[in-house]
Amino acid sequence: LHERLPIEGPEDELQMLAKTMNGMIDRLEVSFARIQQFTSDVSHELRTSLTIMRGEVDVALSKDRTAEEYRQVLLSVLEEVIYLSDMVEKFLSMSTETSNAKQITLKAIDGNAMFDYLRNRFLPMIENKRMELHVRTAESLILHGDEDLLRSLFVNLIENAIKYTPEGGTVVIHAKNKGEFAQIQVMDNGIGIPEQHVPFIFERFYRVDDSRTRSQGGTGLGLSLCKWIAEVHKGTIEVHSKPEQGTTVTVSL
Ligand code: ADP
Repeated sequence: LHERLPIEGPEDELQMLAKTMNGMIDRLEVSFARIQQFTSDVSHELRTSLTIMRGEVDVALSKDRTAEEYRQVLLSVLEEVIYLSDMVEKFLSMSTETSNAKQITLKAIDGNAMFDYLRNRFLPMIENKRMELHVRTAESLILHGDEDLLRSLFVNLIENAIKYTPEGGTVVIHAKNKGEFAQIQVMDNGIGIPEQHVPFIFERFYRVDDSRTRSQGGTGLGLSLCKWIAEVHKGTIEVHSKPEQGTTVTVSL
């Protein structure tokens, strides 16, 4: 693939063709590199989880254990299984990315109903961490998009806001109409993101602190999925964050 067609010589159709071909080869190379990176990232993730499960099960089988010890092993295996299922689910959503990117159907969605649903869905998690959730939405909030994808976008953002905010913290969802756009902000007063990491957090598998997020079940895929969803809706997504103060993610659709 590294070969390029020579383009010296007169500016004629042949030269234009050579330039076009070279451009196509450049793009193919970039795609191949991406696929390679993706495959190696996925394999790495799978291997880590499998190693953990294998280790736990090996130890459990090596001698007689108490019921409680078996229970601990099962819990830790369950944690890995949940982690892997979560990852596979995100991969599946992302594969829509390549197959259906241009086919998503935009429908008018009742934003108020969607955020009501999200509030109810997250209330148990919020109460579990003794946190507060405030949802403020404009009176008639109509979103144009694919309902499943948009729901998935906000589920990911709210999950992060809860996950990266200590007990007793607050999550605020603020959705308003801004001219032709709907602007939705998910704000938390949690641990925040150090400035040097912010440019990378939308990349697949990027985690600010590997050890910390893995123990919390983070795959590093959520925000890349959110970015893709915002983009297929011709929208934008931005993050503002201050360590120890909190994070605000702003989505415009
Ligand atoms: P993960 O599955 O690890 O949460 P994401 O792609 O959703 O992956 O997020 C990437 C990284 O960005 C996370 O690992 C976390 O470090 C950071 N991050 C995302 N949202 C927040 C937030 N609300 N507060 C603090 N850090 C966040």
